[in-house]
Amino acid sequence: MNRRSFLYLGTAGAAATLAPRWIFAQAAPPAPPADRLAQMRATGASTPIKTTKLYDNLWLLQGAGGNMAIQSGKDGNILIDSSFATAVPHIREAIAAISTDAPHALVNTHWHVDHVDGNEGMHAAGFHVIAHEKTKVRMAQPAEMKLFHMSLPAYPESALPATTFATSMHNNHNGDSIDLVHYDPAHTDTDIYIHFHNADVLHCGDIFFNKSYPFIDEGSGGSIGGTIDAAQKSLTLAGDSTKIIPGHGPLGNKADLKKYVDMLSAVRDNIAALKKAGASEQEVVAKKPTASFDSDWLRGGSPDMFVGIVYRTV
Ligand SMILES: [Zn+2]
Ligand SMILES: [Zn+2]
Repeated sequence: MNRRSFLYLGTAGAAATLAPRWIFAQAAPPAPPADRLAQMRATGASTPIKTTKLYDNLWLLQGAGGNMAIQSGKDGNILIDSSFATAVPHIREAIAAISTDAPHALVNTHWHVDHVDGNEGMHAAGFHVIAHEKTKVRMAQPAEMKLFHMSLPAYPESALPATTFATSMHNNHNGDSIDLVHYDPAHTDTDIYIHFHNADVLHCGDIFFNKSYPFIDEGSGGSIGGTIDAAQKSLTLAGDSTKIIPGHGPLGNKADLKKYVDMLSAVRDNIAALKKAGASEQEVVAKKPTASFDSDWLRGGSPDMFVGIVYRTV
């Protein structure tokens, strides 16, 4: 266990709508590569942040991009994820509305653009960025998201995590006991959870899409099996009243996460059986192996991208 402290970081300076949140969940419309990132950033500029209080000093922030959270207090504010660069003014406004405490740390749940694109702006606002070591590696180089026809440029130094860890970090901060723990490769190979013990809040990042099929990034180490394992590990951390923040979708609880694990497991088993029997990816997609789940889990579009990911990574 690599247990390190937040506190030595010090403080640096003073300080919804449904559609955009599903942007990574479903098949993307065809668009020229350069436009996809611009489209996503446009949603960041136009989407206000919805603030939901989860505990005395902890709030859920939902706008464009992945779900965020903010913990406030005299030790300095901790932000989880930073959405799109264009959302930074909205994020700063949302934080100012609930807290006058100084900025402290920004924790990234993983390296995807809808969770880290605002890093540079929030760093400029005084937040020190913390993430898994592979988040830094992946952000520092250009990347292709083939399924989204999207090219991502390398981020500049000022957007990169300044503190990284391999396994876990822990500290007591603003009266809570906080764990940051790396999952084995799941949605990507950079995923972590953030567990606020006293507040009884668990942020799972994109290993949990609540009430939709997930996107799993096979290009950066993700797989259906790893995602199921990570979701099951998260279940063991949660009690019946734990508030569970998914990377995308509405605030969840243990029952929601259990339902998600059960759906993923059933879909995985259906597709694994077809693959084992010799069916090609196209044949499996054509058989609609998610059909009995689509009314509960499909949020527009088609399940074909999800089926393909499961087929290729099972
Ligand atoms: Zn995401
Ligand atoms: Zn993601």
